[in-house]
Amino acid sequence: MSKYFSPEKETASREQIVEWQNAGLVDCVKRVWDNVPYYRKKMEKKGVTPDDIKGIEDLHKLPFLTKDDLRDAYPYGLLARPLSDCVRIHSTSGTTGRRVVAFYTQNDIDLWDECCARALTAAGATEDDVVQVSYGYGLFTGGFGLNGGSHKVGCLTLPMSSGNTDRQIQFMTDLGATVLCCTPSYAAYLGESIHERGVRDMIHLKAGIFGAEAWTEEMRRDIEQTLGIKAYDIYGLTEISGPGVAFECENQNGMHINEDYFIVEVIDPKTGEVLPDGEKGELVFTAFAKEAFPLLRYRTKDICILSREKCSCGRTFVKMTKPLGRSDDMLIVKGVNVFPSQIETVLLNHGYAANYQIIVDRHKNSDSLEVRVEMTPEMFSDELSKVSAKERELVAGLKSMLGIHADDKLVTPKSIVRYA
Ligand SMILES: [Zn+2]
Repeated sequence: MSKYFSPEKETASREQIVEWQNAGLVDCVKRVWDNVPYYRKKMEKKGVTPDDIKGIEDLHKLPFLTKDDLRDAYPYGLLARPLSDCVRIHSTSGTTGRRVVAFYTQNDIDLWDECCARALTAAGATEDDVVQVSYGYGLFTGGFGLNGGSHKVGCLTLPMSSGNTDRQIQFMTDLGATVLCCTPSYAAYLGESIHERGVRDMIHLKAGIFGAEAWTEEMRRDIEQTLGIKAYDIYGLTEISGPGVAFECENQNGMHINEDYFIVEVIDPKTGEVLPDGEKGELVFTAFAKEAFPLLRYRTKDICILSREKCSCGRTFVKMTKPLGRSDDMLIVKGVNVFPSQIETVLLNHGYAANYQIIVDRHKNSDSLEVRVEMTPEMFSDELSKVSAKERELVAGLKSMLGIHADDKLVTPKSIVRYA
């Protein structure tokens, strides 16, 4: 059984990876300069030409690209190849404004499928496996991405799409699915439904690849326990290609980014300055290998930390944490970037519901942060000393997550106003 889908890529030396990235970036910058007036204008505005870009050390000279650019350029403005070379589109849901449409050549699809095949192989899938793809198929990238990856590995692929839980469970049992791919919330729901129907013994799953939405470590443990599997995280955005930009290995502590196709940076979301590895900031991707829809310095708004610590799986690709928040939700307290999702994670890990209020205030030039949380009904009936012990526990948890002190106030259940 091979542990890597692309061993020569996934375990390449840093020098080799940088060489691929240098060549890929120089080529990509030339391609967009020649073929995409939108990029050319942005570069001219910043006073950069392809001659200024000799390798990844020059990446910081290029302008950023944002989702607004993608919307402005809708539908063809960022296309780098003739439409006759394109074979497919995918699109974001467009809940906040105009849709973003991404184009793919056959090579782009192959590259994307390969990324998903690496993710599946890292989760232990081989040609002997039966992969149930329960992500949506269609404009959304989840279904097609994992479907393509599963084909490449040679697994028997069940293109279930999302929904219809009865049919999902029937196929899962009748066809002996061993790997499940879907959103973590649907995995949790499937787990509950399987237990309710009393068919847990007929399930043969060993692994799951879950992404496309935020999930906590606690949720991972629940899913692993309920379904009797190992649950792996996967990362990607439609704009960048889809799932598989980064994937988890057996260590389940961060996702390896496919650096032979993508260059990653972490920047300070306020200043745009590139931050060193290990610092928390906004993820920026350069998708230099894509033909139809290459992206230079695309700001994802996802807040992450990169780590180049040696991974015992043998992969040399840099690892990213799961997104810790969105840069547009960021608060700055005492000079530290604080994300509501970090606070939420601490609350969930301490057994509270995610109903809370964050109060940031300033007294005499000093910031204060208060988190109001609803007690659970059991705690409400506890003695006062127990409640203050719980409060101290939460303060310590928040301090270790945020790096600064936050006061917490446990309030009576259902006393925090809900906004729909
Ligand atoms: Zn690893």
